[in-house]
Amino acid sequence: MADKKCDSGSESDSTEEPVVGNVNKFAVVPPGYNGRPKKGHMIFDACFECGNLGRVDYITEYEYDLFIRPDTCNPRFRVWFNFTVENVKADQRAIFNIVNFSKTKSLYREGMSPLVKSTSRPKWVRIPAKHVYYYRCPDHRKNYVMSFSFCFDKEDDIYQFAYCYPYSYTRLQNYLDNLEKKNMDFFSRELLCLTVQQRRLDMITITNPDNLDPEETKRVVYLTARVHPGETPASYVCQGVIDFLISNHPIAKVLREHIVFKIVPMLNPDGVYLGNYRCSLMGFDLNRHWLEPSPWAHPTLYATKNNLMELDRSDKCVLDFFIDIHAHSTLMNGFMYGNTYEDMERYERQSVFPKLLCANAEDFSLNNTNFNRDAVKAGTGRRTLGGCLDDSSHCYTLEVSFFSYQTSSSSTAMPYTEEGYMKLGRNLARTFLDYYKMTGLISAKPSSSIVPKPGRYNIRDRERANTDPPSDFDERPRNNRLDYHINNTSSYGDTSIRLQFRDRERRY
Ligand SMILES: [Zn+2]
Repeated sequence: MADKKCDSGSESDSTEEPVVGNVNKFAVVPPGYNGRPKKGHMIFDACFECGNLGRVDYITEYEYDLFIRPDTCNPRFRVWFNFTVENVKADQRAIFNIVNFSKTKSLYREGMSPLVKSTSRPKWVRIPAKHVYYYRCPDHRKNYVMSFSFCFDKEDDIYQFAYCYPYSYTRLQNYLDNLEKKNMDFFSRELLCLTVQQRRLDMITITNPDNLDPEETKRVVYLTARVHPGETPASYVCQGVIDFLISNHPIAKVLREHIVFKIVPMLNPDGVYLGNYRCSLMGFDLNRHWLEPSPWAHPTLYATKNNLMELDRSDKCVLDFFIDIHAHSTLMNGFMYGNTYEDMERYERQSVFPKLLCANAEDFSLNNTNFNRDAVKAGTGRRTLGGCLDDSSHCYTLEVSFFSYQTSSSSTAMPYTEEGYMKLGRNLARTFLDYYKMTGLISAKPSSSIVPKPGRYNIRDRERANTDPPSDFDERPRNNRLDYHINNTSSYGDTSIRLQFRDRERRY
């Protein structure tokens, strides 16, 4: 999330003892028990890439308090969690209370629930919302607590729980490695810099190689994502953009002919790797440091901003768009933030792209889209670059909900899936064609290359095109929901009673 007042205004500082480091194969046994862990003594682990769980307290055989490990060097941020549980007994039931969130407003009130997968069922699914409770808890100084009940049905499985669909640094590296191996002449990857912990800051360029002739003037669209490491949906949107732009889709081919796409898919690789929610290794919210990034403290921003300013200064380059992709923890749908400008013509011009995107993406909300210059947003990418790039450029934050979207034709909210986020990315990419047709850069008449061949895509049929990914997508089976949960009413009743009547004096 980059831009919403309630985001930074709703944090509550924990008065718990500090939680430092992740649990490491931590067996939770009853008080006074000294032997080896027995089957059913759950073993919690978060010592893996993007893992986050700082502490587990045994409350009863059926109930555990879980503490999120705060961002490295910044204890204010405690939202992202991602951990495994093993050594369970078949049909063992448990209630997990996540007790130290730093936020109060949350989509848990709107039906969001944690994700789960297990070794025998590797596809992430959401725990049914009816097994999730979000409430102010008298046991934890009236902090908001999210409790969920769960039944471990297979004792040999390792179960993993996460705040949202993880998307790791290693996953991005593997994805980019595979793209490089395809030797596409319109794709290149370069190293902008190394992070404090020596990870790669990658930038990819997608365009027809003719456009890279130094003598030719080029139009550039610049996209970035994952400055906030816990905002994993941003990576799915970004991958959706890339998958579309490198595809054989006729719109992608036309876009590559005319436009140079520069994409920095992960602006905060260390924060992602470490399982932080908001900050870099050194505890900086990088999206408040675009004004004067430091080469030693914010090397990824420093390198990206230099790259952008170089493009901006070049007389052979027109930087049309800067879009920074985030995820939002309290609002639904996809939407954008833009800037307000004294220049009314510029202000109105920047309202065009969100309208075009709204026409292409049913999950995009113009209602949530707004343009502002709030003082607390100084230092964000969108604000800073809106102030220093050429007046002709458009700078936006693209937000997408951590949870769900509602369309104009439906009264119920649809939870996002990994595929749903990638689809928003594909729709974002195709919207550039509409924009450039409108501005006249690309002919409004169908050129030969975008007239669909028989049996291929029909660009006028948006619905169909939107759901037709290129052939080499990782298509996942749909309607493959798994039933992990406590699914009879009596256990649901038990859960409610336990939450209401647990011993409130037990710990403090
Ligand atoms: Zn963000």
